[in-house]
Amino acid sequence: MIRTVILKVNCEKPEKPKIKAAADVIRKGGLVAFPTETVYGLGADALNAKAVKRIYEAKKRPLDNPIIVHVATKQEILQLTENIPLKANKLMSIFWPGPLTLVLKASDKVPKAITGGLDTVAVRMPRHNVALALIKESGVPIAAPSANLSGRPSPTTAEHVNQDLDGRIEMILDGGPTNIGVESTVLDVTVDPPIILRPGGTSYEELVKALGQVNIHPAALAEKSVRIAKVPSPGMKHRHYAPRAELVLIEGNIKPTAKKIQQIIDQNKKNGKKVGVLATDETKSMYTADTVKSLGSRADLSSAARSLFRLLREFDEEKVDIIVAEGVPLEGLGLAVMNRLRKASNYRIVKVD
Ligand code: AMP
Ligand code: MG
Repeated sequence: MIRTVILKVNCEKPEKPKIKAAADVIRKGGLVAFPTETVYGLGADALNAKAVKRIYEAKKRPLDNPIIVHVATKQEILQLTENIPLKANKLMSIFWPGPLTLVLKASDKVPKAITGGLDTVAVRMPRHNVALALIKESGVPIAAPSANLSGRPSPTTAEHVNQDLDGRIEMILDGGPTNIGVESTVLDVTVDPPIILRPGGTSYEELVKALGQVNIHPAALAEKSVRIAKVPSPGMKHRHYAPRAELVLIEGNIKPTAKKIQQIIDQNKKNGKKVGVLATDETKSMYTADTVKSLGSRADLSSAARSLFRLLREFDEEKVDIIVAEGVPLEGLGLAVMNRLRKASNYRIVKVD
């Protein structure tokens, strides 16, 4: 067991001594969880293969699932990549710092541990003062997956990180709840047109506006488990974001969705199960479940993204047996929310209409 130190930091003006202490841990090969605008990341020196291996151990992450490298300046990616396509440059100038990860050809300097054996590397510049200050002070690019135990919902507060990783990492920087709430969009720019491997905090619509054509990998919105051995982004095939309770996802128009959900509630209550419903502001008063939580208004899918992982963890704390979740439209951040919900359901999806 390691003693995990938790330091509260000011997100407007991160305190220098605290950032220095965290950067010291990173430089010595240790692990620091820190806030970004998407979710909390679990950081290590990206150029230190031993430190990177510790990330996999702490998270119990499958070794073939590569890790995103975080930088504070564009300059830093020159040492990590062979080639930066023109479109990648354009995207960096529009979306960085921000929730967009670019997959590029990796240079020899990138430890194989980070890429899961692939010949590409995923990089991004987070839009968060604490993350940027930590990367700058460390003087190295920081490898950082989400700071949860592998398979659990991603952490959007320092408390979530502590629930999963207390005693397994050296430090947590607590900068309060994260703003976007889902991970970055992962875009492969080694192919043309670029292809979204994971929908996230930068919407498909924004990317199309910038580039014209962008593809979405079928596995990113899969309604069935992906069994292909060779997927371009190994994270696609692992079970993910899962609460402990079983989750059923109902997709379709709002009226038949609400009707189906109430049927499932009634059925399960008859069997003595504790039922939770993941609803929206428009529907939350319709259900008679043990606990009903709202993702926010259907008119603002960014609120759904912000609250999704927190609500999944809350259902677990309340020890519900089954969560019945409403699908949301596949627009804006709704695409990222539905990708997470479909995976969390382990593809127990009911379509209504
Ligand atoms: P997380 O660390 O939880 O944010 O997940 C990182 C995501 O980025 C996973 O879905 C990975 O599969 C994906 N990823 C990281 N590096 C690469 C890469 N080199 N090529 C494709 N996908 C990647
Ligand atoms: Mg993750």
